[in-house]
Amino acid sequence: MQAATATAPGDRQSVAARQATFTRHALRNVRIISYSYLIDGAMLGLFALAGTVHWVPVAAYTLMGLMIGTFWTVVFQNGWTLGFKDPHLPMTLSLTHQVLQLVGMLLMPQLSFVFLLVLFIVFTSLAMRVALRQAVTACVTVCLGAGIVLWGVPGPTRIPDANIAEQVLSWAFISLTLWQCIWIGSFNGAMTALLKKRSRELAALTRKVQHLAQHDELTGLINRRTLMSVLADEQRRSDRTGKPLVVALLDLDHFKAINDTLGHPAGDRTLKRLATTVQQLARNTDRFGRYGGEEFLAVLTGTTVADAHIPIERFRAALAAQGWDEISPGLEVHFSCGLAQYRSGESTEDLLKRADDALYQAKRDGRNCTRVR
Ligand code: GH3
Ligand code: MG
Ligand code: MG
Repeated sequence: MQAATATAPGDRQSVAARQATFTRHALRNVRIISYSYLIDGAMLGLFALAGTVHWVPVAAYTLMGLMIGTFWTVVFQNGWTLGFKDPHLPMTLSLTHQVLQLVGMLLMPQLSFVFLLVLFIVFTSLAMRVALRQAVTACVTVCLGAGIVLWGVPGPTRIPDANIAEQVLSWAFISLTLWQCIWIGSFNGAMTALLKKRSRELAALTRKVQHLAQHDELTGLINRRTLMSVLADEQRRSDRTGKPLVVALLDLDHFKAINDTLGHPAGDRTLKRLATTVQQLARNTDRFGRYGGEEFLAVLTGTTVADAHIPIERFRAALAAQGWDEISPGLEVHFSCGLAQYRSGESTEDLLKRADDALYQAKRDGRNCTRVR
């Protein structure tokens, strides 16, 4: 015997699929970050060409960025973070990039603004991923780190604009940051759109589940549970308004014989056809549902038991006029009916018991007729 905690093959498959999706996403993110280090490295290289900084710290910064990228690639590729609640480890991953920006500021104080801009981008993308409390913790850490680094940086920090090359490059870096903001924002937009789609799907699913819970699968009529709740509501309404209320219990005559001679599917088709026919004839203030097997219940509001015969006979006539030949040539379908008028204060059970007694009286009296209790 298998252990109760063993994972079913289906579950294993979906876990594997989820892990594969996670690895794909995590590696894609790391790849994007590595590319942006390459772009930043190239821009910083241009600053080196313009003479703002030496090329060695530029190479060191870019190399460290790529090493961080490689480190996370190895971590995610081997699934080492899969045991964590959020295997993307957004806080830790972001921290490595944040520290690198502070290191960049120390290595190239002339370009502090560049690293503060990158820090801003790194932090914004983190804040969008984590809960507010984590974001606040990260913010406090980054603010402290930036403060310490600015204090430790020798000389004033400024935006390089001594010549046309520096002016163009500084402008390009600021522009790049703005574009990155838009790019990060587009993720947020995509996430919002996905959330809206998911909530629409959930609402549709809830409606479907509600419909399934309230209706009978075969006939599409309301089921016994819904009928009971409708009836209880109508009893209360009748108590309040004094308007009469009648229940009609309908039971198909010799239905078992239809199943036995024509088969269960033919029996099902008969039930469906009856449901559609009666449903179409019922007043929209009346409720008609499947009470069980081949028994149906009509809740007739604002009707006395004397008047209730009218719709019941209308149902009977409609069924008699139906062409049942399509199910079986010569087939005749009729029902017996028990009627009971609600007596103020009476329980639902007692009311239905009287309708049931009337129905059995109709059966005893030869079927295809209506009796009242
Ligand atoms: P009576 O005139 O005394 O009511 O006889 P009857 O044959 O209609 O009554 P009985 O209670 O003996 O048989 C009811 C039959 O209804 C038996 C059951 O198999 C059948 N039935 C109940 N639900 C379904 C259903 O969903 N589909 C089909 N095809 N048959 C059903
Ligand atoms: Mg029956
Ligand atoms: Mg029957």
